[in-house]
Formats: sequence, C-alpha cells, structure tokens
Amino acid sequence: MGDAATGIAAAASDSSSSPTRPASDSSGFAVSALRQALLAWYAACGRDLPWRRSRDPYAVWISEIMLQQTQVKTVIPYYERWLQQFPTVEVLAAADQQTVLKAWEGLGYYARARNLHRTAQAIVQRHGGQFPQQFDQAMALPGIGRTTAGGILSAAFNQPTPILDGNVKRVLARLLALEVPPSQALDRLWQISETLLDPQQPRDFNQALMDLGATLCTRHNPACLLCPWREHCRAYSLNLQSEIPMTESRGPLPHKQIGVAVIWNEQRQILIDRRRQEGLLGGLWEFPGGKIEPNETVTDCIRREIMEELGIEIEVGERLIVVEHAYTHFRVTLNVHHCRHLSGEPQPIECDEVKWVTLDEIEQYPFPKANVVIIEALKDSAASVESPVG
Ligand code: SF4
Repeated sequence: MGDAATGIAAAASDSSSSPTRPASDSSGFAVSALRQALLAWYAACGRDLPWRRSRDPYAVWISEIMLQQTQVKTVIPYYERWLQQFPTVEVLAAADQQTVLKAWEGLGYYARARNLHRTAQAIVQRHGGQFPQQFDQAMALPGIGRTTAGGILSAAFNQPTPILDGNVKRVLARLLALEVPPSQALDRLWQISETLLDPQQPRDFNQALMDLGATLCTRHNPACLLCPWREHCRAYSLNLQSEIPMTESRGPLPHKQIGVAVIWNEQRQILIDRRRQEGLLGGLWEFPGGKIEPNETVTDCIRREIMEELGIEIEVGERLIVVEHAYTHFRVTLNVHHCRHLSGEPQPIECDEVKWVTLDEIEQYPFPKANVVIIEALKDSAASVESPVG
C-alpha cells in the first residue's frame, strides 16, 4: 500500500493552490470528489436527529457528551428528558450532583455526567454562560477532548474543526486500507480527517462522516454498494473491508467475584452507601460489598467487607440474586445476599455517605446499572418475603 495520507494531502494542496486543475492526482484521493459525494449522500440520506435541529451550543454539547460512548437510539430519550429537566447551562450548573447523576442513570460512564456538571459551572463562572468558541478554551473544559471539541465547534458554530470518534476512525481506516490498528496511527488519521473536512460546510461534512460510519460503514457487514465513497475506498477495492480496521490483540477481560450485602434493619430499611467521587461510578449509590478473596466464602467476604467498610456486624442470610456485568476493562459477578443488621452504627469508612432507606425511597437515588438489577430483584421478592433474613 502506498502512503495514502500523503496522497490525500497532496491532492488537497493541489486543489487549493490551483483551483482550475482537477482536485486529484495520480497517487492520492480526489478530495473535492470525496467531499461532494459525501455531502450529496448526506443531503439525501442523513439522519434526522433531535440535536441536529438545534444550533444551541448547550444542546449540541450535551448530545456530543452523551454520544461519546453510547448509541444514538439509547441517547435520544435521555437527551430529550435532559433538556426538559436542565433546559439551560445555568439550570444545570445550579443543580445538585445527585440530581444530575439520577438523570444520567443507565447511560453508563458516569464521569461524563460529573464532568458535564462541572463544565456547566465553569461555563457560567468563567465564560458568562456562553460555550467558548475558541478551540483551546473548549478543550480546557472537563470531559472535552479533541474530537468532542471538534464536534461541538463544527456543529454549533460551523467551524472547520476535524473529528475522530470511533466511527470516523473506522471509515478513514478503510478508506486508506490502514495496515495497523487505528490506535497506532492516530496522527495520520487526524491529518486525513482535517484534510478531507470541507472548509465551506464543516458542520454538514462532519455530521455526514459520522452518519457514514454509523449507517453504512458499520463494524460488521458494511454496505459498500450504497456507499458514496466506494470508488475511492482502498479497503473496498482490495476486498479488505471486513478485515479493516485491524484490531488490537486482547486477552480475556479480568473477572472479579464480588460479595454484596442488602442489609436490613428492624424498620425494614436497607443500608446503601455513596461511592467516593474519584474513580469508577464515583458519586453513585450502591449496595455495600467487595471482592471475594481466594479461599474465602461469599458469606465470609460479605461479613468482612461490611465490617471493614462500614464498621458494623451483620448476619448473612439467603442469596437474593447473582448479577453478571461487564465494564470496559473487566467483568464482575455480584453475589448478592440478604443480610440482617446486628450491631454498630454504620460509618462511611470507605465511602462518602451511608443511608438507611425504604424500598420505596431507594428509587430517588442514582445507582449503577448492575445495582438497578438488584433493586428490581428486591421489588420482585418484597411481596413474597415477609422477613428477608432468618
Ligand atoms: S466502500 Fe465500504 S468500506 Fe469503504 S468507506 Fe464505504 S462502506 Fe466503508
């Protein structure tokens, strides 16, 4: 394979310095033709998405953050509810973090919600409530990296800022027939994204590129026959579209066995704790517990963890449910047991806060997805279980 990146750059440079020449050369891609084909396809086939009906930088920013690790169809109802609940950056900035996390519940990657909240406060305090239009200022905000900043500034202000999200990496890797995983060629992919970006219509071009990756140039079975870039695509011409992008060779995800306690007191309340702000799922509530050590039983683990984390004695009762859940870098099995509080006042030794709540009140608190499954199991069993322990 030749150096396609250089080819594209050469073609772009030719087209801008000598407008009467055809916007292509023998070694590279026809940048103008690629732009035109993509924009024409987008005009005919682009998706009608709620955030595309808005030029409000606040709405655009919320959509970009929600879309970072989540699919469009999942995002749409969250986006619409969010704008009703927090219609402006000022309302979001003034909300308390628990309300923000509750609105985010189920979307995952909760650092995004915490960063949205912090960023809203920064925009109000440092930028007079206006989303900054300077690329460097946008990048300085919590949770906004290069591609998110590019997406927001192009969508909200029609600025010629390139993007390189997961979909775009895949499309460009195929266009080039990239021989290495995209993570090993990021500079090159950024360069291509920037070169191809139409300076006259950057908003539409970036949206079109995202749509191409999401609807035609999909991870599996790309619809090349419908693709506006088919005649330029090197992966297609080499029949390598199923092999590209190359993947990193990965071992199996580490697996953790966790003991989890649903601790009841005499008033039929349940003990929950709020995770520390730092780290995975920070600020969310959960049922307490921890990792089962080698040669430790689930019961011994739960009893030990609860003493270490909360300083109380409990009796471990029957099993409620086993929940399997996968995070990006590991997976967990939650072995959840009903427990009875015996003695001691719960202390937030390894968390930010502890609380006794009834099963009805528990819905008000933001929980991670795996814990929501536990709550559902509790509700299912509540009617039939008179006394959960003993
Ligand atoms: S021709 Fe196929 S592989 Fe190439 S960009 Fe289009 S959909 Fe993707």
